[in-house]
Amino acid sequence: AKAQGKHRITEYNPQMGEENLRRISMEQQLRDALRRQELSLHYQPKLSVCRHEVVGMEVLLRWHNPVLGTVSPAQFIPVAEQSRLILEIGEWVLEEAMQQNLAWQRQGLPLLPMAVNISALQVHQHDFVPRLISRMTRLGYPGSRLELELTEGVVMEGAIPVRRYFEQLRQLGVRISIDDFGTGYSNLGYLSRFPLDTLKIDRSFVSDIDAQPDKQQIVRAIVQLARSLSVSVVAEGVENQQELACVEALGVDELQGYLFSRPLPAELFSHYLGATRGV
Ligand code: C2E
Ligand code: CA
Ligand code: CA
Ligand code: CA
Repeated sequence: AKAQGKHRITEYNPQMGEENLRRISMEQQLRDALRRQELSLHYQPKLSVCRHEVVGMEVLLRWHNPVLGTVSPAQFIPVAEQSRLILEIGEWVLEEAMQQNLAWQRQGLPLLPMAVNISALQVHQHDFVPRLISRMTRLGYPGSRLELELTEGVVMEGAIPVRRYFEQLRQLGVRISIDDFGTGYSNLGYLSRFPLDTLKIDRSFVSDIDAQPDKQQIVRAIVQLARSLSVSVVAEGVENQQELACVEALGVDELQGYLFSRPLPAELFSHYLGATRGV
């Protein structure tokens, strides 16, 4: 694979040149994004089935750059990972999100857990967990209001020390969820040994599920697996009533998607909470 990579670089390929340039310029801009305060966080509600009460939220990173405009995380997160900038950015996300959650608490809004996406590179730092714990201690942030969304890869590579780390976090009430579940290569043996709370079904299985029996089979299987592991299931990307009815019938526990709300900036999210919770 390495030789092939080398070959590709020497080959004349204007499109690849363009892509490289774009990536390099994105990386340069991203390097300064934190300092220039171009990053912000949006919050998307998670709701309970049936009653559709807000039971939590997911924190999603946003980037607006004067040169590049608004860049989607699907584009810049991979660049941040390749350049390892995600380490610094990830720290900022955790700090900013916890501060925001505490600010909502001071405003008397409902106390809700907040799910933060954590990149594999962050988890692979040997001191990720101790630093997270000291951050929570410094801020007075309760573990019960934090959930970490990890990818399947992180859990599957999860050597024993990694598992111990997460067990430590769970003792503080922090929840662990596997994001994009169903798209990776989960090994059931590993899965059952990893300290887990939630499986988050990938959006690709929810999209148009009402019209696609194969997707219904997959979601049914994931729900069964979750039951046997005693973890809960979240369906993300619920966009319409048909998809909602379908995932509810299949027995998922929580819902997230544009049908209820898009990810919102902090101020709009607190209005949404106030409106739905009668604050
Ligand atoms: P994800 O963790 O799977 O996040 C869910 C994505 O689905 C979000 O995209 C969200 O806006 C989108 N979404 C939610 N409901 C719907 C829906 O009903 N329909 C559709 N079409 N989309 C929906 P977003 O915000 O563009 O983020 C993309 C990915 O970027 C995330 O996927 C996550 O992997 C990554 N990401 C975002 N923020 C962070 C972060 O702070 N740290 C890290 N490491 N990754 C992040
Ligand atoms: Ca996520
Ligand atoms: Ca996902
Ligand atoms: Ca449909």
